[in-house]
Amino acid sequence: MNPFFNTKITYLKGVGSKRSEILNKEAAIYTFYDILHYFPYKYIDKSKFYKINELQNNINSYVQIKGTVVDIQTIGENRAKRLIVTLQDSTGYIDLVWFNGINYIEKKITKQKEYIVFGKPTIFAKAFNMMHPEITDAEQQEETQTIPIPFQPFYNTSEAMKRSGLDSKGISKILYQLLVSSHQAIEENLPPYLIEKLKLMDRKNAVFNIHFPQSQKLLKLAQQRLKFEEIFFTQLHLIQNKLIRSTKSKGFLLPKVGTHFNNFYHNYLPFELTNAQKKVIKEIRSDFISGKQMNRLLQGDVGSGKTITSLLVMLIAIDNGYQCCLMAPTEILAIQHFNSISKFLNNMDLQIELLTGSTKASKRKQLLEDTKNGKTSLLIGTHTLIENTVVFNKLGLIIIDEQHRFGVEQRAKLWKKNEHPPHVLVMTATPIPRTLAMTVYGDLDVSVIDELPQGRKAIITYHYSQNNRKQLVDFLKKQIHIGRQIFVVYPLIEESETLDLKNLMEGYEAFKNNFPLPHYTVDIIHGKMTIAEKDAAMQGFIEGKTHILLATTVIEVGVDIPNATVMLIENAERFGLAQLHQLRGRVGRGANQSYCILLTGNQLSNDSKKRIQAMLETNDGFEIANFDLKLRGPGDLAGTKQSGIINFKLLDIIKDEKLIVFTRDLAHNILRNDPLLEKEEHYCLKQQLHFLFNTTKNYYQIS
Ligand code: ADP
Ligand code: MG
Repeated sequence: MNPFFNTKITYLKGVGSKRSEILNKEAAIYTFYDILHYFPYKYIDKSKFYKINELQNNINSYVQIKGTVVDIQTIGENRAKRLIVTLQDSTGYIDLVWFNGINYIEKKITKQKEYIVFGKPTIFAKAFNMMHPEITDAEQQEETQTIPIPFQPFYNTSEAMKRSGLDSKGISKILYQLLVSSHQAIEENLPPYLIEKLKLMDRKNAVFNIHFPQSQKLLKLAQQRLKFEEIFFTQLHLIQNKLIRSTKSKGFLLPKVGTHFNNFYHNYLPFELTNAQKKVIKEIRSDFISGKQMNRLLQGDVGSGKTITSLLVMLIAIDNGYQCCLMAPTEILAIQHFNSISKFLNNMDLQIELLTGSTKASKRKQLLEDTKNGKTSLLIGTHTLIENTVVFNKLGLIIIDEQHRFGVEQRAKLWKKNEHPPHVLVMTATPIPRTLAMTVYGDLDVSVIDELPQGRKAIITYHYSQNNRKQLVDFLKKQIHIGRQIFVVYPLIEESETLDLKNLMEGYEAFKNNFPLPHYTVDIIHGKMTIAEKDAAMQGFIEGKTHILLATTVIEVGVDIPNATVMLIENAERFGLAQLHQLRGRVGRGANQSYCILLTGNQLSNDSKKRIQAMLETNDGFEIANFDLKLRGPGDLAGTKQSGIINFKLLDIIKDEKLIVFTRDLAHNILRNDPLLEKEEHYCLKQQLHFLFNTTKNYYQIS
């Protein structure tokens, strides 16, 4: 292991214990490796001094000027007090202005001396100004210019970091001396043949130049090289895991298609499966008889029928004598799965149980016992299933519904429920763009349900602004009149269920005032209700007793009530695009024409407009996801935030598609011939993988 990179940051000259604590906490910098990979977010060309009469063309971008202080004044009182220092060069004057730290700056500056000033010029009252510039004595700067570099790196820092001297300059100082003193310790981690073939900069130079570039060209080369590393090692890791898993770890063989499956399929399945559903079941079947452990992602747009597909494969596992579990992200969804699956399998002698955070102690005890001794065939629940008290006798298959709602860690824990890893199927309606699938989910097999059940009518989406909401009343009445039901969803304003609830309650009042529909039953559902209350609210809606269900986003995923035909989204501008699409997917699940109504304020931001527009233009989840990716970047997508995998500093998951595809193929080729990286030339790769991935927990098993 590379002891240099692993050295604790405390031991770095100029850091010490207090600063190291701050670096840990504020920037997740723990080791030399971490700080060396704390890349600048921008660079400023300091090789040039601007003349004041050139500033006109450089308003609002950073410049460096050299001049003599000709005047120092403080003006104004109290909070309006400011220090104005006038600087002159051979071409003109500029006023440097400080609102804070006036005393400190005043002491530092003397009239008629020469200074170097660095900042962003602005024009105010036809004169040049610069707010809070950096200012250094010109003589001193020449003497103490420890970092002889043309480009100054800028690092992200927090208030706490700044307070302890770790502002951008402070960081560049400690980095500079680390790089100058220990440059040699940075060992190459790519084999020479790759460096040569791909014309990459060597690692030492790349790490140096990304912090202290000697020229634009060298900076570019450094970035290229380090970006390549980021994605290449991720790909190597993911693909190697997949190879190892498929060759070494044996999966349960589930060859039999037995009585439960056949009975259900032939006698109880209420509809013909779509071809896409059949295709997916075949793909999973082939995993079950391959002797390998399945790790498969099932993608299918909202309403494509993932649940029944997963139920059928669970029946296969049960027919082979194994237990299954199905994990859902919300209690409401878990209850719904439990109810609908219990109903589907009503005529079969199978024990199906529901476990959530609110399962009563006595019930829980019995259920856990039954699960442990194998009586329970199918356990359905929320993330409670992950708890250590949940022990299976013979767990053969795990299904994770709406997997993007779970953190990778949660999934990995479930994976470990069995000594022998069970088969895993994760399902999502959030289509994952190609590049993301190749990186975050690089070790998963992917199945797609790319077809909706027959007879579905495309959902019609409307946009109404608050001013026009009264027009909606007739429309809603008519829908109820012809026997349909309506969801009204209120946005999550804060990440707080209490505020969320307040919002719903206010919405409820507003709804009664704005939509006078006195003859209809209105009910509400939200996360703070008990399991029994939620169940009752959902049941009332399913049975058609409730006409209008007002809800928080708890119903966002999975909820399946075919008779509901209107999804009215209040403050739609507050929702993300993926969320809007998910919500829309709560309707259009039966044969009736369904509608999604986006109610927004009158004034919309540009981004909100784009999101609403995208919703109006397409019903296709893939298009929506691609659009979302463009709008937001990958950080928020598909639970990647929690995953920690997308911790790319240089790689842009959209723009660097070519590089991603290239490195993926490259990693494949290398591993095809040398799966364990045992060849001497690949020793450096093996070392680096070990360094990057074995020090953290192995979350990569599922995705
Ligand atoms: P999702 O993929 O969003 O989880 P669901 O599994 O909830 O979708 O299915 C949506 C609805 O479509 C359910 O009411 C389900 O019973 C129904 N469904 C599923 N497959 C078919 C099919 N092949 N034909 C008709 N209806 C189907
Ligand atoms: Mg679903």
